[in-house]
Amino acid sequence: MRLVLLGPPGVGKGTQGQRLASDRGWSLISTGDMLRLAVAEETGLGKQVKSLIEAGLLVPDEVMIQLVKARTAKPDATHGFILDGFPRTVPQADALQGILSERGQQLDAVLCLSAPDEEIVGRLAKRGRVDDVVNTVRKRLEVYRAQTAPLVEYYRGQGLLREVEGVGELETIHGRLIAALNGRPRSA
Ligand code: AMP
Repeated sequence: MRLVLLGPPGVGKGTQGQRLASDRGWSLISTGDMLRLAVAEETGLGKQVKSLIEAGLLVPDEVMIQLVKARTAKPDATHGFILDGFPRTVPQADALQGILSERGQQLDAVLCLSAPDEEIVGRLAKRGRVDDVVNTVRKRLEVYRAQTAPLVEYYRGQGLLREVEGVGELETIHGRLIAALNGRPRSA
């Protein structure tokens, strides 16, 4: 299974991605985690992206595309992966398709988690990450709407989109994601 988790910051992609990955044995590829690690380790990439992350802005497409191209080529990702935080722009989504098709692969589904804005802002406020301060949160939501939200229609048009309500208990939402993957009507 090759999946994309889509949805605004704070909607639970990371938490649900981890749950799904450990449940199914798929590799979880979180571009945000990869970038934060690079920043912590002060690598060249880390130095390049630090200020962008702190400002709530996107890292340039070319940088992200190379990162994901290399990461998805690793042995642990050959049998399946869950992408959390990528793609975030239409050019990234186009590039992902190109990368996969060169390998004779394709995405199986795009799981889109949704939650009302108040819920998201409340969750982010509690998380305490360096980019979770109020102004940056606002910026990230703005960036999501302008640059990432168009991917909902993009993937709907490809018949890959599965929309899942992201409010509720962790296990309830996990169940909805599994149901969406199995193509069953969502319960609970
Ligand atoms: P996340 O943990 O997914 O919320 O990502 C944290 C930050 O990393 C984002 O606000 C961006 O600055 C950067 N980032 C992560 N993934 C991407 C991506 N696919 N494209 C551009 N920037 C990204």
